[in-house]
Amino acid sequence: MLHKAEQLLRTVYGYPTFRQGQEDIISDILHRQDTVGIMPTGGGKSICYQIPALVLPGTTIVISPLISLMKDQVDALHSLGVAATYINSSLSQTETEERLRLAGNGEYKLLYVAPERLDSPRFQSLPYRVQVPLIAIDEAHCLSQWGHDFRPSYLSIVPFLRQIPDRPVVAAFTATATEEVTHDIVRLLGMSRPSLHITGFNRENLSLSVLRGVNKTEYVLNHIHHHPEQAGIVYASTRKEVDELCGLLERKGVAAGKYHAGMSDEERKASQEAFLYDEIKVMVATNAFGMGIDKSNVRYVIHYNMPKNMEAYYQEAGRAGRDGEPGECVLLFSPQDIQTQKFLIEQSVSDTERKSNDYKKLQTMIDYCYTQQCLRSYILAYFGEETASTSCDNCSSCKDEGEWTDITLEASKIFSCIWRMKERFGVTLVAQVLKGSRNKRVTQFGLDRLPTYGIMNQMTEKAISDLIHKLIAERYLAMSEGQYPVVRLLPKAAEVLKGKEKVMHKVRPAPRAVQEAGPLFERLRGLRKQLADQEGVPPYIIFSDSTLHDMARRLPRNEEEMLQVKGVGDAKFLKYGKPFLHAIGELVEGRDTSAAEDYEAGPVWRSEQAAAELKRTKSGSGGKGSHLISYEMFIQGRTVEEVAEERGMGLITIQDHIIRCAKEGLELDWSLIIPESYEGQIIEAAQELGADRLKPLKEALPDEVDYFAIKAALVKHELI
Ligand code: ADP
Ligand code: MG
Repeated sequence: MLHKAEQLLRTVYGYPTFRQGQEDIISDILHRQDTVGIMPTGGGKSICYQIPALVLPGTTIVISPLISLMKDQVDALHSLGVAATYINSSLSQTETEERLRLAGNGEYKLLYVAPERLDSPRFQSLPYRVQVPLIAIDEAHCLSQWGHDFRPSYLSIVPFLRQIPDRPVVAAFTATATEEVTHDIVRLLGMSRPSLHITGFNRENLSLSVLRGVNKTEYVLNHIHHHPEQAGIVYASTRKEVDELCGLLERKGVAAGKYHAGMSDEERKASQEAFLYDEIKVMVATNAFGMGIDKSNVRYVIHYNMPKNMEAYYQEAGRAGRDGEPGECVLLFSPQDIQTQKFLIEQSVSDTERKSNDYKKLQTMIDYCYTQQCLRSYILAYFGEETASTSCDNCSSCKDEGEWTDITLEASKIFSCIWRMKERFGVTLVAQVLKGSRNKRVTQFGLDRLPTYGIMNQMTEKAISDLIHKLIAERYLAMSEGQYPVVRLLPKAAEVLKGKEKVMHKVRPAPRAVQEAGPLFERLRGLRKQLADQEGVPPYIIFSDSTLHDMARRLPRNEEEMLQVKGVGDAKFLKYGKPFLHAIGELVEGRDTSAAEDYEAGPVWRSEQAAAELKRTKSGSGGKGSHLISYEMFIQGRTVEEVAEERGMGLITIQDHIIRCAKEGLELDWSLIIPESYEGQIIEAAQELGADRLKPLKEALPDEVDYFAIKAALVKHELI
């Protein structure tokens, strides 16, 4: 029989040899043995049940979760000359009846159905009319509550299997199953002594990288610019981000499309097809896109945000290079992604056990983003695969040319601080104590009296918390689960404190985003200079370089788009929006500049807050470097009120000065401005409502959170 299988591989599919695992799985199925096949995305699972279906008499039922996927598979089978069909909710009643009738006559070798269909009595009677030798369950991890993509409809498979006469062979397939999930699959399907095939998870042709602290938009644009002919997917966490990024790419002339659950079925279908047929090169999507998409020439998958867990990540990243040619998988990480994922867990999961499981999975994902180990070994170890080598030479850790440096001293300071804080607080507070912050919570708990208070004050708070995260990833420290996790010490840290072990760390120069200064940027810069001279202020007071870069990249056409540019708020827009919109309009060929004209009539106050801010900014921004003076007074220990009083300026002006300095990269003790207990809430609100307008945020937050705190939090988390 195996000989027959080989022959079919060659004649029907045109492939000379089986891939790893395929032959064994097919052989077991043909020997009537229940089988679980765990193979990476693109590993070739379909053939594992399609070939047995062709060899065995009767009709094989394939259970598959996605309607679009079924159609693709059936179309592919038709092109190979195989009699196959599908039944799902996209069909009319008459079509369904007709296909069921033909199926009852044994006209098909393969019948694809959605799990919901198994509840229908009409369908349940099918195995009485036609021989069903094999039931294949694709994406079988959907059965398990512990998997990353549980679908309750999959549970319909269980009673369906029970009532079938002459129980067929059951074969389940998935790309991602931890031990727990595999166990669930076997148990729920009532498999008797199943054979388990786990082929290597390693995909050698994929290069893996994690980039921390890069300008994400710039990175994506740059990548596409250098690979204009390649097909790629950019995954982002939210629909809003997908919309924005796709819009930006389109304006830049990139053939891009998008896909998320907020679009209509037709829109999604059109977009998916355009991508499959290479009409668009870049697909910007949420995780709604892709399960089972068999586009083999995807050359890169960029994650614009960290996904919720390793299973999701590897499955999505694995969509690159299915054809075996090199594929690039890049994860762009920023600490704010952690907040987003926690927010999503809090919003969507209510069951406590499930929640804790989700938090655990999230932590492993975070660790992946911080680890200095070989990324490939990390992934393989996560999926329970032993690796002979701890270096793959094809991931950002292995290729990192940074120098290994002894950081035992810094690590020891962190460990002893955690110890003295009795392992009861989170990363932020530990970093604040080490930094010597005067945050209320620090003093409230008397943490400023600890001997470790301020012992790392030469580093920024962000650098300290980054280091703590790395130590978590390297298992010196552990983080408890939940929304507000605390850090505690692991045995490895004790060894370091006892002086028995050293901590080594790769130090590399901070990655610098590549900024191309094109003609538009130059023109905007000229305009900025002109305005600056008129007002007698330094140019960066008007807009920073990065704002001009962002403007040159986004090419805003109207107020709304201009307000999305980083560094353009309501007040700035009122003052400078018009001339900049004009300049862009003039430079971009054929662009209608009438939107800019609307502001000719004079300022339209967008909100009282903006108006108040503007008035004060005007009176306060006269002198050169005025904001620096305020900033210095503030960091020397004066309160905002005191600075305002001494300088004879408004409170909001001084606050703006401080924020501006922070935006320009000067160091700031954020805890003096942002009440720690509200920081998470501010960021969550910004994620939900957007960071472009402050007023809705102010309204959504408790009264005691002032505009200053909101702005500061947004700057700290690089949301504006
Ligand atoms: P999976 O479902 O495991 O993600 P698919 O079944 O969609 O993967 O297969 C991925 C790609 O690999 C398809 O284009 C398929 O035709 C191809 N493929 C499968 N088996 C072989 C083989 N033995 N030789 C060459 N190509 C194969
Ligand atoms: Mg598949």
